[in-house]
Amino acid sequence: MKETIELAERVKHLPPYLFDKIDKLKKQARAKGVDLIDLSIGDPDIPTPVHIVEALKDAAPKPQHHRYPSYEGMLAYREAVANWYSRRFSVMLDPGTEVLSLIGSKEGIGHLPLAYVNPGDVVLCPSPGYPVYSIGTMFAGGEPYFMPLLETNGYFPDLSAIAADVLKRTKLMFLNYPNNPTSALCTVEQFKAAIELAHKYNFIICHDAAYTEMYYNGKKPMSFLEIDGAKDIGVELHSLSKTYNMTGWRIGFAVGNPDIIFGLGKIKTNLDSGVFQAVQEAAIAALDTDEAALAPLRDTYRARRDALYNGLKSIGIDAMKPEATFYMWTKVPKGYNSESFAVHLLENAGISATPGNGFGAAGEGYIRFALTVGVERMKEAVERMRKII
Ligand SMILES: *Cc1c(COP(=O)(O)O)cnc(C)c1O
Repeated sequence: MKETIELAERVKHLPPYLFDKIDKLKKQARAKGVDLIDLSIGDPDIPTPVHIVEALKDAAPKPQHHRYPSYEGMLAYREAVANWYSRRFSVMLDPGTEVLSLIGSKEGIGHLPLAYVNPGDVVLCPSPGYPVYSIGTMFAGGEPYFMPLLETNGYFPDLSAIAADVLKRTKLMFLNYPNNPTSALCTVEQFKAAIELAHKYNFIICHDAAYTEMYYNGKKPMSFLEIDGAKDIGVELHSLSKTYNMTGWRIGFAVGNPDIIFGLGKIKTNLDSGVFQAVQEAAIAALDTDEAALAPLRDTYRARRDALYNGLKSIGIDAMKPEATFYMWTKVPKGYNSESFAVHLLENAGISATPGNGFGAAGEGYIRFALTVGVERMKEAVERMRKII
């Protein structure tokens, strides 16, 4: 008889996958032939712009790209990142020491704790939040401490609520603005308060900036690195995934404090060998995209947002109108919790959305809709909901 090989403790201790039940119901609905409207996935439904695909086509046949890439990314890619930061945020970066390519920003989030977190160290993670912050922490043996993002505190952590003995053990704090799943932006003052705390207790801030380019009101979200003192203690992770519809390409970057970039790079040199250089060439084309060319994309999401927001309002559902990201963070109607409402939508309206508690305990009572279908489909979703609310 074959002996059972036990999973490692770190895998056994993974939190239960809260989307399990919804995923199963989704599959069942599809198998039954239900015309499902899927508003549950944070993945753009619009293809990558043609000029980026063309850049890959030009680069792919070149033999110099067929060898191992440099782990930190091609200099030309790091320069394109630095130029983009300078143009977009007026933040100056040294492409030699302050920029690192990533195989998507998820990879950087997952690996950063390995570089800095020892068993027993605390990592401050937003709740609700992108699950990789706490899971990367646990894989490194660290202890996630969840900071609730609540309507009452403007979806920014109440830093004064974190006990001093927790802060003394803290090595790293994750922040993410514009925020997934709440869509909230944060203010200069809020960033400043976090930076001050990091200086006082000597921990790193890792700002996940995946959504800075998905904004709708002309008010451009800022980079964490625009704030004085941020680069002394922090790094910012960026993704091309959402901005340029490139989730499948797997490319992103880390920028900021050169020592932290070096630390993360140390882990990466020992685990991966960088990003296919033809993909880096395509990413250069993406970063060099004329700003005006992104306007139609924003218009598309804005129209979807308005269709969903106005529709939900007309049926008495209390949503938050996002100024950024492609998510609508929505309170579930009375009598439901996150999961029961998600199940109700799936079973009775053929709509899938993400239960808020899947992003952490503080997301209970909410559901997240992604703006990943066209306006007509969005209106159809609202009409289906109207019949079952
Ligand atoms: C989508 C997403 C990412 C991951 O982006 P990749 O670059 O595709 O890995 C990171 N953080 C947040 C908050 C996201 O929503």
